[in-house]
Amino acid sequence: MKITLHASMCVASGNCGFVAPEVFSNPEGNGGFAHLNDSAPPESEWEAADEAEFLCPSKAIQIDRHQIPPR
Ligand code: SF4
Repeated sequence: MKITLHASMCVASGNCGFVAPEVFSNPEGNGGFAHLNDSAPPESEWEAADEAEFLCPSKAIQIDRHQIPPR
């Protein structure tokens, strides 16, 4: 899994950091706009990352599921 965050599309809803806190964060110091903590998360985080993509109101999160994860 390879995750891309299109930061310019983020509307700071906070959904991603709430459902996938290992992958995303929404620092208060940055107005709650999303920060991508891990662009190639371990498989244990894939379900949460999928949910974040689904719940993102501005479609700022893009997930490439064909990418082979690093070993
Ligand atoms: S869910 Fe989308 S709009 Fe909301 S903070 Fe995350 S990237 Fe930004």
